[in-house]
Amino acid sequence: MLFKSTRSNVSPVSFREAILHCLPDDGGLYVPASAVDLRQFFLYMDADTSYPELVSTVAPALLEGELNPISAARVAESAFDFEPQLRRLDEHLSVLELHNGPTGVFKDFGIAFLAAMMEELLRGGGRAMTLTATTGDTGSSVARAFAGRAGITAVILYPRGEARGLDPSTFTSAGGNILPIRIDGSFDDCQRLIREAFEDRPFAGRYGLTSANTINVGRLLPQAFYFLYAFIKLKRELTGDFYFSIPSGNFGNLTAGLYAWKFGMPVNGFVAAMNANNSFGDYLRGRKFSPREPVDTVSSSMDVGNPSNFERLASFYAEAPAVMRNMVFPESVDDGETLQAMRRAWKKYGLLLDPHGAVGYAAAERLLTCDLEDGHIVVVSTGSPAKKAELVGKTIGRTVEIPPYLVGLRKAVEPVATIAPRLDALEAVIAGSC
Ligand SMILES: *Cc1c(COP(=O)(O)O)cnc(C)c1O
Repeated sequence: MLFKSTRSNVSPVSFREAILHCLPDDGGLYVPASAVDLRQFFLYMDADTSYPELVSTVAPALLEGELNPISAARVAESAFDFEPQLRRLDEHLSVLELHNGPTGVFKDFGIAFLAAMMEELLRGGGRAMTLTATTGDTGSSVARAFAGRAGITAVILYPRGEARGLDPSTFTSAGGNILPIRIDGSFDDCQRLIREAFEDRPFAGRYGLTSANTINVGRLLPQAFYFLYAFIKLKRELTGDFYFSIPSGNFGNLTAGLYAWKFGMPVNGFVAAMNANNSFGDYLRGRKFSPREPVDTVSSSMDVGNPSNFERLASFYAEAPAVMRNMVFPESVDDGETLQAMRRAWKKYGLLLDPHGAVGYAAAERLLTCDLEDGHIVVVSTGSPAKKAELVGKTIGRTVEIPPYLVGLRKAVEPVATIAPRLDALEAVIAGSC
């Protein structure tokens, strides 16, 4: 499978190229250029197939000619010491828990695969440097996934005041390959600096720069794997329509779910579960998209006014707008409903959800009540309830334990350097560290 730009006026590139130089020259984003049919593989995978087994089966099929089954098994084993959990709640409802990774959010899955895959691609030689801007746990996830990966330096930019949950023994200053830098500025300054770094082609070329943010399709494509995983776990029990309900902010998960469908997963549709930040719903219903200022909600990782995957989804829609409108069902859930849904899930199934998962659950309930007959919905649980232990505990009236590895995420650390938001200052630090 090759990858093309959403703006489509450059010729398709290999996965290697799309991962290692993550932005096409025309300013678009990479998306799969064709669909590989994975249906033959669904026949012999079933509820006993482990996640690394599934990944080592479907990844080489998708990336034929670039990833052989032996390399794929190595990538899967080295990326995933955590797995998605599928829990069947009843005849109509299951939950796909994606918060068992090191930072308790689904983003660990894409980041872990990207890191292991990059190391595999660089086995024959060459070096790369990833740039990530973050205010939160994405930095911890990146630091953990990339630590010790041969040939790669992971630069993580934090705005003023942040930098948490990192292990200093992995830093470049201690002989490792993780380089956290504090930017004397805001998160927007960090993002602007990254943009400047990529736009300066000689600069990007000098360091083999690529991104570990979701603009890198090497983070997005592996998110399709856990949708396939849910399907093979359930396939024997499915008798009717099959849906996923996806708590959405930047719409990466929805985009990846649609890729899984394009690769042959039999699914009837996806609920795009949004909080009060629902401007994207208009677009999904076929109207024009106009971004709005985000408002604060209890599901804060979904407080996005202008989703970064808009361009990827738009290119998907452009191919078959009518089909897409029958595949994606937007729902918007306010904070009050979110907390009530969290309580109901706990009472009815003993299911603990964080506020993001609860938005997905509430949206799934709406689909269930409008007569689904023998259908089945999988709620995608994107975040660990332990990360919002106080709110979840107060809502369900019970203490929620926080496991030690999640407590560690809150610990502030001193980055390797603090610099002004300027490219020359960034270059001075990275040139001295690799
Ligand atoms: C990032 C995040 C989301 C939003 O996912 P998108 O792929 O951006 O739509 C939802 N829930 C949690 C817990 C998140 O961290």
